[in-house]
Amino acid sequence: MKVSRMFDKGKTVFSIEVFPPKKGAPPEGVFPTLERLSDLRPDFISVTCGAGGSESAGGDNTLETASFIKNKCGVEAMAHLTCVNSSKADVGRILGALRERGVENILALRGDVNPDIPRKNDFTHASDLTEFIKANGDFGVSGACYPEGHVEAGNLNSDLKNLKKKVDAGVSVLITQLFFDNSPFYSFMEKVRLIGIDAPVSAGIMPVTSKKQIERMVAMCGASLPPKFAKMIARYENNPEALRDAGIVYAGEQIVDLISNGVDGIHLYAMNSPYVAEKIFGSVSKLL
Ligand code: FAD
Repeated sequence: MKVSRMFDKGKTVFSIEVFPPKKGAPPEGVFPTLERLSDLRPDFISVTCGAGGSESAGGDNTLETASFIKNKCGVEAMAHLTCVNSSKADVGRILGALRERGVENILALRGDVNPDIPRKNDFTHASDLTEFIKANGDFGVSGACYPEGHVEAGNLNSDLKNLKKKVDAGVSVLITQLFFDNSPFYSFMEKVRLIGIDAPVSAGIMPVTSKKQIERMVAMCGASLPPKFAKMIARYENNPEALRDAGIVYAGEQIVDLISNGVDGIHLYAMNSPYVAEKIFGSVSKLL
């Protein structure tokens, strides 16, 4: 089933993101985690991929993980696919492999540019990849968006114009970068609708489980930290269990507020932790 159709049912779509085992490690390593996450019956599970080259972009472990979710767990799967270091032939091969495994949903991404890896020239933006996927198969294509603006975009308005190009190229569902403050998300949503984007938008929520994790994430994506959140980290930074529990409650409160305000979907960055996903899902499943 195409993920875009899930938003027609008038309920909040709930999805979980997982990362596959590292390249070269057996894909089976993540299967017990996937079985536990699938027991929660999320609407779909998405699987990240590396951006380092054709082998990792949509590489074997992303494919096999997505295939296990779809074919063994009976949950709809979405495979992430980056294009920054891929040729059209590379992407064509990955599309064939996804088709063979019955995976019909793709998150089309540019990926982060690594100055140490020479770029291939077939795709410049995720919108180019989206066009290529739409022309080469019957896939549902989703795309990334950034409530606080993408780090490379000069400003939010130019980022939104580029986002519109991505939607016009065939992206039918948007998933946001993680955020810890709902206010910029609501103002982003107003701008998204004003610019004429009517695709559903799932809000990316990451329950914080450690201080190191939050520092890494914020350095990577530049999400702002509201004072309430920063105080929570400061208070519990030396008590990992307390920080994890506080992070779960914080994310739960964010989600309740988002659902109350009519968000289209919640995309949980659960960092492959069934414990965290179970706690969050257990507290909000009746609200969806
Ligand atoms: P694009 O949409 O191409 O945008 C990149 C920049 O180019 C933006 O500044 C944008 O404003 C600009 N731009 C876009 N289109 C145009 C245009 N037509 N003309 C001019 N400028 C344009 N990375 C991974 O490596 N693996 C993953 O699995 C992964 N999963 C992710 C999941 C989500 C939900 C999100 C939000 C991000 C994920 N990323 C992942 C990170 C992502 O690859 C990076 O944020 C990357 O820097 C941008 O990817 P994009 O698809 O948003 O790029």
